[in-house]
Amino acid sequence: MLLLGGVHGDEVEGYALIERYVASGKWGSLAGKATLWAIPRLNPDGCALGQRLNANGVDLNRNLPTQDWIPASLEARYPPGAAPGSEPETQALLGGLAQMRPQFILSAHSCQAHPCVNYNGPALELAQVMAACNGLPITADIIGYPTPGSLGTWAGQERRIPTLTLEILRGTPLDQVWQEQAEALQAVLEWAAQGDAF
Ligand SMILES: [Zn+2]
Repeated sequence: MLLLGGVHGDEVEGYALIERYVASGKWGSLAGKATLWAIPRLNPDGCALGQRLNANGVDLNRNLPTQDWIPASLEARYPPGAAPGSEPETQALLGGLAQMRPQFILSAHSCQAHPCVNYNGPALELAQVMAACNGLPITADIIGYPTPGSLGTWAGQERRIPTLTLEILRGTPLDQVWQEQAEALQAVLEWAAQGDAF
């Protein structure tokens, strides 16, 4: 299982949650049941600068080599890079995914409105476990617009790896994020770690 955060550097609510989860040691209950990997800040330069894009000005969640990758930016704030997989962070993630071969991916983001648990691939039950704890609505596949080059498309749709994208409301105090999300995160990992979860 893979926990991912900081894909977008201005989404501290997401990467702070993953970092706090790692520091909490709550994952100790998974010992013997699952292997858990965490990449809290996929986009370290963006996190340091507080900006969505990486240091090259590329949206890492549009840079993965999906079948529908296109060089044009669908929206100005989502520049996909010069080529699919062009960015060092994307290459690191792809190399890691090839080694880890996760059976479940959770990526923590934040958004200006409409927080949700979004799922790609066969992850509806996982979304339901999480949503039952944090009270957020479940959204399917795409967040209302095409996302070529996104992790949800690459892993969930194209490779059928159950993938959740947790969208936390931007600006939520980080202690409140922890209070609202820690139990949900623990519950979904415990559920996914069951031998028959998939
Ligand atoms: Zn994001």
